[in-house]
Amino acid sequence: MSDAGAEAETDYHEREQHVLNLFTRHKRKLQFLAVSRCAHDDRLLAGVCRFSDSLWGWHAGSRLSPSASRTEIGSWHLDLHVDEELSPDAYEQADQLADEVLGEATRFENPASVVKVHSILHDSSFQVGPWRGYRHALQFFCNGLPLFAYTSCKCRRAYQVQMLALAHAGIRADVTSSLDSWNVEALPVKGFLKRGAPQRSAYRFTSEGVQVVLDER
Ligand SMILES: [Zn+2]
Repeated sequence: MSDAGAEAETDYHEREQHVLNLFTRHKRKLQFLAVSRCAHDDRLLAGVCRFSDSLWGWHAGSRLSPSASRTEIGSWHLDLHVDEELSPDAYEQADQLADEVLGEATRFENPASVVKVHSILHDSSFQVGPWRGYRHALQFFCNGLPLFAYTSCKCRRAYQVQMLALAHAGIRADVTSSLDSWNVEALPVKGFLKRGAPQRSAYRFTSEGVQVVLDER
Protein backbone atom coordinates (compact mmCIF):
# COMPACT_ATOMS: atom_id res chain seq x y z
CA MET A 1 0.00 0.00 0.00
CA SER A 2 1.30 3.50 -0.80
CA ASP A 3 2.02 5.98 2.01
CA ALA A 4 -0.96 8.04 0.91
CA GLY A 5 -3.17 4.93 0.99
CA ALA A 6 -1.97 3.97 4.46
CA GLU A 7 -2.53 7.52 5.67
CA ALA A 8 -6.05 7.59 4.24
CA GLU A 9 -6.78 4.30 5.97
CA THR A 10 -5.50 5.64 9.31
CA ASP A 11 -7.64 8.76 8.89
CA TYR A 12 -10.64 6.60 8.08
CA HIS A 13 -10.05 4.42 11.11
CA GLU A 14 -9.77 7.47 13.38
CA ARG A 15 -12.97 8.90 11.99
CA GLU A 16 -14.68 5.55 12.50
CA GLN A 17 -13.59 5.51 16.16
CA HIS A 18 -14.77 9.08 16.62
CA VAL A 19 -18.19 8.32 15.16
CA LEU A 20 -18.45 5.14 17.27
CA ASN A 21 -17.75 7.30 20.34
CA LEU A 22 -20.46 9.77 19.35
CA PHE A 23 -22.98 6.96 19.09
CA THR A 24 -21.82 5.31 22.32
CA ARG A 25 -21.79 8.44 24.45
CA HIS A 26 -24.36 10.75 22.91
CA LYS A 27 -26.98 8.45 21.45
CA ARG A 28 -29.81 10.26 23.20
CA LYS A 29 -28.82 13.61 21.75
CA LEU A 30 -28.39 12.45 18.19
CA GLN A 31 -31.04 12.97 15.58
CA PHE A 32 -31.61 9.65 13.87
CA LEU A 33 -32.78 9.37 10.29
CA ALA A 34 -33.69 5.72 10.69
CA VAL A 35 -33.82 3.39 13.69
CA SER A 36 -34.46 -0.20 14.71
CA ARG A 37 -35.65 -0.67 18.28
CA CYS A 38 -36.44 -3.45 20.74
CA ALA A 39 -40.19 -4.10 20.57
CA HIS A 40 -40.24 -4.77 24.32
CA ASP A 41 -38.48 -1.72 25.83
CA ASP A 42 -37.84 0.54 22.85
CA ARG A 43 -34.06 0.43 23.33
CA LEU A 44 -32.10 1.39 20.27
CA LEU A 45 -30.58 -1.59 18.45
CA ALA A 46 -29.28 0.18 15.36
CA GLY A 47 -29.65 3.50 13.61
CA VAL A 48 -28.48 5.87 10.91
CA CYS A 49 -27.48 9.52 11.45
CA ARG A 50 -26.11 12.31 9.31
CA PHE A 51 -22.79 13.70 10.47
CA SER A 52 -20.70 16.45 8.85
CA ASP A 53 -18.98 14.10 6.38
CA SER A 54 -21.62 11.53 5.55
CA LEU A 55 -24.37 9.27 6.83
CA TRP A 56 -23.21 6.68 9.34
CA GLY A 57 -24.92 3.53 10.49
CA TRP A 58 -24.51 2.14 14.01
CA HIS A 59 -25.20 -1.38 15.22
CA ALA A 60 -25.41 -2.20 18.95
CA GLY A 61 -23.64 -5.56 18.73
CA SER A 62 -24.66 -8.31 21.13
CA ARG A 63 -23.79 -10.17 24.32
CA LEU A 64 -25.30 -13.46 25.38
CA SER A 65 -25.02 -16.04 28.16
CA PRO A 66 -23.05 -19.19 27.20
CA SER A 67 -26.13 -21.40 26.79
CA ALA A 68 -28.09 -18.73 24.94
CA SER A 69 -25.08 -18.22 22.65
CA ARG A 70 -25.28 -21.74 21.18
CA THR A 71 -29.06 -21.66 20.90
CA GLU A 72 -29.11 -18.31 19.19
CA ILE A 73 -26.29 -19.02 16.76
CA GLY A 74 -27.92 -22.34 15.87
CA SER A 75 -31.16 -20.51 15.18
CA TRP A 76 -29.45 -18.43 12.45
CA HIS A 77 -29.29 -21.67 10.51
CA LEU A 78 -32.56 -23.24 11.64
CA ASP A 79 -34.45 -20.04 10.81
CA LEU A 80 -33.67 -20.70 7.16
CA HIS A 81 -35.90 -23.78 7.23
CA VAL A 82 -39.62 -24.06 7.71
CA ASP A 83 -40.58 -26.40 10.54
CA GLU A 84 -41.40 -29.35 8.28
CA GLU A 85 -37.89 -29.32 6.80
CA LEU A 86 -35.97 -29.56 10.06
CA SER A 87 -33.94 -32.73 9.73
CA PRO A 88 -31.20 -34.14 11.98
CA ASP A 89 -28.77 -32.74 9.38
CA ALA A 90 -30.13 -29.24 9.90
CA TYR A 91 -29.55 -29.49 13.65
CA GLU A 92 -26.06 -30.84 13.06
CA GLN A 93 -25.27 -27.95 10.74
CA ALA A 94 -26.65 -25.54 13.36
CA ASP A 95 -24.29 -27.09 15.89
CA GLN A 96 -21.36 -26.78 13.50
CA LEU A 97 -22.20 -23.12 12.96
CA ALA A 98 -22.18 -22.55 16.72
CA ASP A 99 -18.73 -24.23 16.90
CA GLU A 100 -17.47 -22.10 14.03
CA VAL A 101 -18.73 -18.81 15.44
CA LEU A 102 -17.80 -19.42 19.07
CA GLY A 103 -14.41 -21.08 18.56
CA GLU A 104 -12.73 -21.09 21.98
CA ALA A 105 -15.15 -18.61 23.45
CA THR A 106 -18.10 -19.62 25.61
CA ARG A 107 -20.28 -16.64 25.01
CA PHE A 108 -21.11 -14.77 21.87
CA GLU A 109 -20.01 -11.17 22.16
CA ASN A 110 -19.94 -8.74 19.35
CA PRO A 111 -19.07 -5.12 20.08
CA ALA A 112 -20.97 -2.16 18.70
CA SER A 113 -19.79 -1.01 15.28
CA VAL A 114 -20.32 1.79 12.80
CA VAL A 115 -20.35 1.85 9.03
CA LYS A 116 -20.05 4.85 6.74
CA VAL A 117 -22.82 5.13 4.17
CA HIS A 118 -21.88 7.21 1.16
CA SER A 119 -25.02 8.30 -0.55
CA ILE A 120 -24.28 8.52 -4.25
CA LEU A 121 -27.52 9.11 -6.06
CA HIS A 122 -30.96 10.19 -5.06
CA ASP A 123 -32.34 6.85 -6.17
CA SER A 124 -31.07 5.28 -2.93
CA SER A 125 -28.07 3.53 -4.46
CA PHE A 126 -25.04 3.85 -2.26
CA GLN A 127 -21.62 2.59 -1.23
CA VAL A 128 -20.52 1.76 2.28
CA GLY A 129 -17.25 1.62 4.18
CA PRO A 130 -16.07 -1.73 5.56
CA TRP A 131 -18.59 -3.60 7.73
CA ARG A 132 -16.90 -4.12 11.11
CA GLY A 133 -19.80 -5.96 12.70
CA TYR A 134 -19.82 -9.72 12.98
CA ARG A 135 -19.74 -11.82 9.81
CA HIS A 136 -20.61 -15.47 9.59
CA ALA A 137 -20.77 -18.08 6.85
CA LEU A 138 -24.54 -18.07 6.39
CA GLN A 139 -25.01 -14.32 6.37
CA PHE A 140 -26.18 -12.62 3.20
CA PHE A 141 -24.62 -9.34 2.14
CA CYS A 142 -25.80 -6.88 -0.48
CA ASN A 143 -24.23 -3.51 -1.28
CA GLY A 144 -21.60 -4.26 1.38
CA LEU A 145 -24.12 -4.54 4.21
CA PRO A 146 -25.65 -7.60 5.86
CA LEU A 147 -29.35 -8.08 5.17
CA PHE A 148 -29.72 -9.30 8.75
CA ALA A 149 -27.37 -8.51 11.63
CA TYR A 150 -27.88 -10.36 14.89
CA THR A 151 -28.39 -8.04 17.88
CA SER A 152 -29.26 -8.67 21.50
CA CYS A 153 -30.98 -6.01 23.57
CA LYS A 154 -29.98 -5.40 27.20
CA CYS A 155 -33.34 -7.00 28.13
CA ARG A 156 -31.88 -10.21 26.55
CA ARG A 157 -34.35 -10.35 23.71
CA ALA A 158 -32.64 -11.17 20.43
CA TYR A 159 -33.31 -9.64 17.05
CA GLN A 160 -32.16 -9.65 13.48
CA VAL A 161 -31.67 -6.02 12.51
CA GLN A 162 -32.33 -5.40 8.82
CA MET A 163 -29.14 -3.43 8.29
CA LEU A 164 -29.35 -2.98 4.53
CA ALA A 165 -32.96 -1.76 4.82
CA LEU A 166 -31.93 0.60 7.61
CA ALA A 167 -29.33 2.24 5.35
CA HIS A 168 -31.94 2.60 2.59
CA ALA A 169 -34.38 4.16 5.07
CA GLY A 170 -31.70 6.55 6.36
CA ILE A 171 -30.90 7.73 2.84
CA ARG A 172 -34.57 8.16 2.02
CA ALA A 173 -35.19 10.18 5.20
CA ASP A 174 -32.08 12.26 4.43
CA VAL A 175 -33.01 13.15 0.85
CA THR A 176 -36.58 14.00 1.84
CA SER A 177 -35.34 16.05 4.85
CA SER A 178 -37.74 14.12 7.01
CA LEU A 179 -38.04 15.31 10.61
CA ASP A 180 -39.19 11.95 11.95
CA SER A 181 -36.86 9.00 12.08
CA TRP A 182 -37.85 6.06 9.92
CA ASN A 183 -38.54 2.90 11.86
CA VAL A 184 -37.27 -0.34 10.36
CA GLU A 185 -38.66 -3.26 12.31
CA ALA A 186 -36.12 -5.49 14.04
CA LEU A 187 -37.22 -9.10 13.57
CA PRO A 188 -37.44 -11.07 16.83
CA VAL A 189 -35.29 -14.18 16.51
CA LYS A 190 -37.71 -16.37 18.50
CA GLY A 191 -40.62 -15.09 16.39
CA PHE A 192 -39.07 -16.76 13.35
CA LEU A 193 -39.62 -20.15 14.88
CA LYS A 194 -43.37 -19.81 15.39
CA ARG A 195 -45.27 -21.44 12.60
CA GLY A 196 -47.17 -18.95 10.52
CA ALA A 197 -45.86 -15.94 12.49
CA PRO A 198 -45.74 -12.94 10.20
CA GLN A 199 -42.23 -11.88 9.29
CA ARG A 200 -42.16 -8.21 8.51
CA SER A 201 -39.14 -8.54 6.29
CA ALA A 202 -38.10 -5.40 4.44
CA TYR A 203 -36.74 -7.54 1.60
CA ARG A 204 -38.21 -9.05 -1.49
CA PHE A 205 -36.10 -11.68 -3.19
CA THR A 206 -36.48 -11.57 -6.96
CA SER A 207 -34.61 -12.92 -9.97
CA GLU A 208 -33.01 -9.45 -10.20
CA GLY A 209 -31.65 -9.78 -6.68
CA VAL A 210 -32.72 -8.30 -3.37
CA GLN A 211 -35.19 -5.43 -3.31
CA VAL A 212 -35.69 -3.32 -0.22
CA VAL A 213 -39.35 -2.68 0.49
CA LEU A 214 -39.88 0.10 3.01
CA ASP A 215 -43.31 0.73 4.50
CA GLU A 216 -44.53 4.13 3.38
CA ARG A 217 -45.30 6.33 6.36
ZN1 LIG B 1 -35.14 -4.84 24.95
